[in-house]
Amino acid sequence: MIKLYNSQTRRKEEFKPVEEGHVRMYVCGPTVYNYIHIGNARTFISFDTIRRYLMWRGLKVTFVQNVTDVDDKIIKKANEEGRSAAEVAKEYTEAFIADMHATGVMDPDVRPKATEEIPAMIELVQAIIDQGHAYVEEGDVYFDVRSFPSYGKLSGRNIDEMESGHRDLVAGGAVDDRKRDPLDFALWKAAKPGEPSWDSPWGPGRPGWHIECSAMSKKYLGLPLDVHGGGSDLIFPHHENETAQSEAAYGTTFCNAWMHGGMLQINSEKMSKSLGNFMLLREVLKYTKPQVLRMLMLQAHYRSPLDFSQERLDEAATSLERIENSLRNLMWICDSAGEQESTVNMEALDAGAQKMRADFVEAMDDDFNTAGALGAIFTFVGEVNATLADTCVCKRDAARVRAAGELIIELLGALGIAVECGQEGAGCGYPAETVALAAEQAGYTGSDPEEAVQALLDARAAARKARDWGTADAIRDGLKALGLVIEDTPQGARVTVAG
Ligand code: AMP
Ligand code: ZN
Repeated sequence: MIKLYNSQTRRKEEFKPVEEGHVRMYVCGPTVYNYIHIGNARTFISFDTIRRYLMWRGLKVTFVQNVTDVDDKIIKKANEEGRSAAEVAKEYTEAFIADMHATGVMDPDVRPKATEEIPAMIELVQAIIDQGHAYVEEGDVYFDVRSFPSYGKLSGRNIDEMESGHRDLVAGGAVDDRKRDPLDFALWKAAKPGEPSWDSPWGPGRPGWHIECSAMSKKYLGLPLDVHGGGSDLIFPHHENETAQSEAAYGTTFCNAWMHGGMLQINSEKMSKSLGNFMLLREVLKYTKPQVLRMLMLQAHYRSPLDFSQERLDEAATSLERIENSLRNLMWICDSAGEQESTVNMEALDAGAQKMRADFVEAMDDDFNTAGALGAIFTFVGEVNATLADTCVCKRDAARVRAAGELIIELLGALGIAVECGQEGAGCGYPAETVALAAEQAGYTGSDPEEAVQALLDARAAARKARDWGTADAIRDGLKALGLVIEDTPQGARVTVAG
């Protein structure tokens, strides 16, 4: 049974999609006026992980994520740069998609753009007016919060409390006196000169931000949604307003389970564009493997705040290397298995693998506790290292040992972490410089690092046999300079990446 924390009820609940076996999930996408930072990336990685895990559990997931491609910030940037808002939005939408691909985040099943969904938004605004929950003022349309008694139910505040907070906020600032209440928010904004606009029953204008998500989620998923996600900074006002709009228009529940991710922080302060303490995702990915970034993110619970630092990134890289080295070792032992008697304790290995799987599922079923799930994997990796140290595996046992390694790879894959450990279809992890080294010291003429390392090992073995210690040592030192270590094991020599 999968349990998740529902921000609306403020409890962990059993997760039950409306349609059995099919999860319909909506996660708010970016406003495309700049490159995204690693705080934004945290939220997208969290929901990608949740999606992947649900799929691994055998559920069908339909995942919709919008792109907000018309907005004040986009228009401002376009004016500053003397380009059209559409040009700015196109550039950063493409950049966002490229960044997500580079991060290993799956494409949504549908990625609607606000500017292409205006008719659905107009229809929704009209439905809210027809239900008596919105009013028109000089071409603007506002949601009337006082007309809707459950306004505030998601964020858990009542209108009067919010009002006093809001008054502090606008003190000294401009109060929009066309609104009946300061908390009323725009569903439709009348066109201003030089801004993109669309025709509507209330005159030319453009949609408010919140109405987009209400319209697009209903259009592509139907109501009620099973899951609606985003960062916790979106609970109020964005998600509060989405709920109010949809429920005011249709009188049905908008969403059954609201999920919100914790903020990525720098020195305990939220990473944000406005504070200027942000690091762009694409910059970080220049020197960090995407799976290391994900490892860092998943070591914290998705709802907890996470402090980002280079130190934690280095720790995540070391953790991942530990797993990859262990898997490389395991795969190598299986590949080089011979006829000799096995000395490995197969029962212990099988039992450890089964326990890892059970603990992984238990942790993930409990509100997607990725830290616990990784903990189960690390525990088993430690056992694998101990079990396989100084052992021989015979051909008969090799398949079972390999299956244990493949289970580690599968579970990491369920979290979206792709490991490099020499298994088929993945890189071997050896640097390209091994090819030149092998050409020089072993007469190797190909271009594959894995073959090059093997050629070096063969040359070293031949040199040792001929008691040519100078050549053998030169090969060892050459590899060492590339961060590779030769280990002599009961099944022969092998090379590992220094961790
Ligand atoms: P925005 O483009 O600002 O609407 O943000 C896109 C997504 O990133 C939203 O789901 C936000 O909640 C999320 N987000 C923004 N800043 C952070 C942060 N520092 N940590 C985690 N998520 C964030
Ligand atoms: Zn949204």
